[in-house]
Amino acid sequence: MTQTLTIQGSTGSVGQSTLDVVRENPDRFSILAITAHSNVESLANQAKEFRAKHVVIGDDSKYLALKELLSGTKIEIAAGKKAIIETASLDADITMAAIVGMAGLEPVLASIRQGKKVAIANKEPLVAAGDLILSEARKSGAKLLPVDSEHNAIFQVLEENNRAAISRLILTASGGPFRTWTLEQMAAATKAQALTHPNWSMGAKISVDSASMMNKALEVIEAHYLFTMPAAQIDVLVHPQSIIHSMVEYRDGSILAQMGPSDMRVPIAHALGWPNRIKNASQSLDFTKINSLTFEAVDPLLFPAIRRAYDCLDAGNHACIALNAANEIAVAAFLDERIGFADIGFVIASVLERAQTTKLTDLESILAFDQKMRESAQTCILNKQTSTRKAV
Ligand code: NAD
Ligand code: MG
Repeated sequence: MTQTLTIQGSTGSVGQSTLDVVRENPDRFSILAITAHSNVESLANQAKEFRAKHVVIGDDSKYLALKELLSGTKIEIAAGKKAIIETASLDADITMAAIVGMAGLEPVLASIRQGKKVAIANKEPLVAAGDLILSEARKSGAKLLPVDSEHNAIFQVLEENNRAAISRLILTASGGPFRTWTLEQMAAATKAQALTHPNWSMGAKISVDSASMMNKALEVIEAHYLFTMPAAQIDVLVHPQSIIHSMVEYRDGSILAQMGPSDMRVPIAHALGWPNRIKNASQSLDFTKINSLTFEAVDPLLFPAIRRAYDCLDAGNHACIALNAANEIAVAAFLDERIGFADIGFVIASVLERAQTTKLTDLESILAFDQKMRESAQTCILNKQTSTRKAV
């Protein structure tokens, strides 16, 4: 039977890979709605190819351009942030949450409230509002399907009936492009260097996060919420080949790992097909071409982000919100070439230092605190730029 699918963030890296999986399985999925922030050309092409019923562009000023591109079709067109959130009420059988950053929080919550399947790639909302997302899913009966490759791997090998026998989750990390660099080299890293990931092809924000290993830090918090696992039972292990995507260790000493090529279409196909296995165009792994699988500990001096994730989990959700907000603002400034790579960590540390301890449970207070932390990060960047100019 054909299932209807809505993709929030269809023009991004995960969004496009999701459509690749749909292309391989034309009888299984039909596209109900797709959304994007500003890339109207790509959105219109996708809408035509997949005969989407609804398209939404987040940036209002692009509405007419989108309308023009889709003239002569019967596709329903809408624009604006609210319209993206409202796609949830179209009630798709499956929603793929593939927006980047906290901008995806309200759309994913709206989809979860429909009580269907929600494949979730968008990790930032889980980091900042994990409890809220989980409690909404419990209320509506929605099934959350992890798409982040590590969490999808854990989801595949975590035996629900043996939960109490889990000794730890082992999140693997490639180590990113700067794994073998020195601190000095990293401080001078350019945007192009930070965007060159050794194993994965991804959007700009997550590529920079992989270079600082903030991506893995966010994933520790994501795993804590998705699998209701205490931080003390979540380990990070560097595995540069990215063949093992993560593991679960049980108290009898068995470790179950999920393996596969470094291709997001694998976890996406798993989530879309769940509980069945569906076709996928990804290359089969050729074990004879893999010389070795290696593992190493994270260097805490090069990558302080990992320690910060554990500290934030310990401090409470206000700290997780602050960590994520400061990182989003700092990474955007780095991508705009307004600050250097080492400044990202500096901005995060200074925002965390000033963040007041508060317990945040409802959506409004989470969004308000997130906004405050973003402003704090912007101020820190402005002060930094002013002091750099004075020094010059
Ligand atoms: P991307 O930048 O390639 O795409 C982001 C998508 O979100 C685009 O369609 C864009 O139009 C949309 N978008 C951006 N800002 C928006 C806004 N303010 N409002 C509405 N829509 C907006 O990002 P990506 O690499 O595909 O990552 C998407 C999410 O999936 C991120 O949270 C990332 O951490 C997670 N993820 C990505 C990968 C990967 O391989 N790319 C792997 C694991 C997890
Ligand atoms: Mg990941």
